[in-house]
Amino acid sequence: MQVKETVLQNKEEYISFLSRLVQTDTQVIGHGVLGGNEQAGQAIIKEKLEQLGFQIDEFLVDDEKIKKYPGANLGHSNEGRPNVVGTLKGTGGGRSLILNGHVDTMPFGDRSKWADDPFSGAVKGNVLYGLGSTDMKGSLAAMMMAAQVIHTLGIRLKGDLIIQSVVDEEGGGNGTLACVERGYTADAAIVGEPTQLHIQPAHMGFLFHEITVEGKSLHSSQLWEGVNAIDKAIKIYQSLKELEHRWLMTERHPLLPGPTINLGEIKGGIAGSVVPGSCTLKTCLHYQPNPRESYAATRERIHGDVLAAIDSVVKGDEWLQAHPPQVTVYQEGFPFETPLTHPFIQEIRQVLGGILQQDVVIEGMPAGCDARLLAGFANIPTIILGCGDPRQCHCIDESVPIDQFLTLIEVYASFIISWCGIDS
Ligand SMILES: [Zn+2]
Repeated sequence: MQVKETVLQNKEEYISFLSRLVQTDTQVIGHGVLGGNEQAGQAIIKEKLEQLGFQIDEFLVDDEKIKKYPGANLGHSNEGRPNVVGTLKGTGGGRSLILNGHVDTMPFGDRSKWADDPFSGAVKGNVLYGLGSTDMKGSLAAMMMAAQVIHTLGIRLKGDLIIQSVVDEEGGGNGTLACVERGYTADAAIVGEPTQLHIQPAHMGFLFHEITVEGKSLHSSQLWEGVNAIDKAIKIYQSLKELEHRWLMTERHPLLPGPTINLGEIKGGIAGSVVPGSCTLKTCLHYQPNPRESYAATRERIHGDVLAAIDSVVKGDEWLQAHPPQVTVYQEGFPFETPLTHPFIQEIRQVLGGILQQDVVIEGMPAGCDARLLAGFANIPTIILGCGDPRQCHCIDESVPIDQFLTLIEVYASFIISWCGIDS
């Protein structure tokens, strides 16, 4: 199969497709809550998919439909922000594949800090610059160009190839959630977040907790008659840090770090002279998948550990027994993991290793991404594999290495052929 040659022959066209995508503003506004500018980017994707013979499904995120999923981010402004999903129907008898990429980017921030226009899409040597070039228009363009390679070679696939260009990933993943709700599924899925061509078959889950502790407010000269809510909150925080320490002993994963709890926000009190009557802690907790239980069961267990750690403080404190802290989860996402023994992992590892001519790096992603939605809610064996360095995400002067982008096109195209099969 002439995949490598085709990529080399047409690389200028592939690079200019990526440039055009980067030059198009697709920023989310207010983390997707206030909207997003994805439409112009989706028009480019749609036009290209149509040219390549894909059937197009264009649809908006609908809160009513996605609200049944834990972690759905409701109340975002979805108007004018369509998902674009293209399906290239196979001739039958092959395995199907989803390639998933988000078209939205974070805002570029302070324009004056950029050396060049954030929408330049400029090429300098081996580097293409611009907002979203790594996160993740590079991989999204590579998915499209891989489909173009298949088209150029006149290959007819046996299995279905589905490309999902989704909105609002930066707002929490509603675009992919809407694809899952619409019934899209496949025998395997690749999410193209930047991994520097490493295979990531797992990522951490996350839970945001808000813990509000009540006290009794009084002038500080009478403090023995008041109850200091910040004092109580600190005890709870210490108990959570002890829990984090215990987890380091009990929760282990070959690809991922131990669970962590970050106290990210603390609000309490009004003045130095007043015993604070209330204190609120906001934490973010990252936790690992556990292959011995479902994602939902792991989430329940970890959340249960947090409640128990808080409860252990309450039990030893008369005031807190009478005034129990309020604990809510205000945002969350499951972890995910595809076992290394799965045939999908073995096959992508072989294809990638053959192209790189070196050992493939397999690692976990310490953050989370849309992979959890495809794996957790649609039960699709999923990995993350893309071009660009994750440290470039949401960065001033974001850029992507062009050789990695071109290699990724070759990897995606070769894997599509291998996985979906060819009708000869
Ligand atoms: Zn991303």
